[in-house]
Amino acid sequence: MADPAGRNRQAARYAVLGAAGLAAGLAVAHGGPGLTALGPVRKALFPRLAGRGAPDHVALTFDDGPDPESTPGFLELLGGRPVQATFFLLGSMAARAPQLAAEVALAGHEVGVHGWDHRYLTLRGPRATRDDIARAADAVAAATGVVPRLYRPPHGVLNGAALLAVRQLGLTPVLWGSWGREWARGATPESVYATLSRDLCGGVTVLLHDSDCTSAPGSAQAALGALPMLLDECERRGLRVGPLGEHGLR
Ligand SMILES: [Zn+2]
Repeated sequence: MADPAGRNRQAARYAVLGAAGLAAGLAVAHGGPGLTALGPVRKALFPRLAGRGAPDHVALTFDDGPDPESTPGFLELLGGRPVQATFFLLGSMAARAPQLAAEVALAGHEVGVHGWDHRYLTLRGPRATRDDIARAADAVAAATGVVPRLYRPPHGVLNGAALLAVRQLGLTPVLWGSWGREWARGATPESVYATLSRDLCGGVTVLLHDSDCTSAPGSAQAALGALPMLLDECERRGLRVGPLGEHGLR
């Protein structure tokens, strides 16, 4: 952004965002993704951050992998449709399963960064925040051969230090507008689909998880079971489904 006034406006927006993320981060005590991404105010004020895209397109995103226990099932299902998606990889998981991370990219899916491990950014200082994101981006690039361009914070909670770090690292933060809450204990494919379909519409970014590593056992299977219902419904509505790179982020 070239003009100083514009830069100031942007800085003000980031400051607001940091404060909101901090407040939400401190308020959220459970293990699921944070509350910051889904508020109507957030969606209206920050459409790109909320993953708003072209009105005839749905962005499909998966967090917390790559997981040898569950990610291959997602790759198989998506390959059979065929549909491509964005996988926000944890650096620690990519380092443990680099071959699987490479398979995700080789299958034509987009890879983004979800941090090295899955701690709230609000529990870290600025240096640790930057180090975590940079380490994860390096691990994803080393495993996949692709330099990631997208970032999603653990629990969807951002702070000012993270926003500064991702700008320095050339990453764009993207949250979501629809989620399946498959991390909740007792979730089923039907409950996941029912939850995400409440906010399903053209231009939305859908969040699911291809790993249970941060949630209740079985949650990735619930997400996998919901996926055909989601894809069928998008087809019925004439909505294209793909990665964030094809979403036309505003
Ligand atoms: Zn996550």
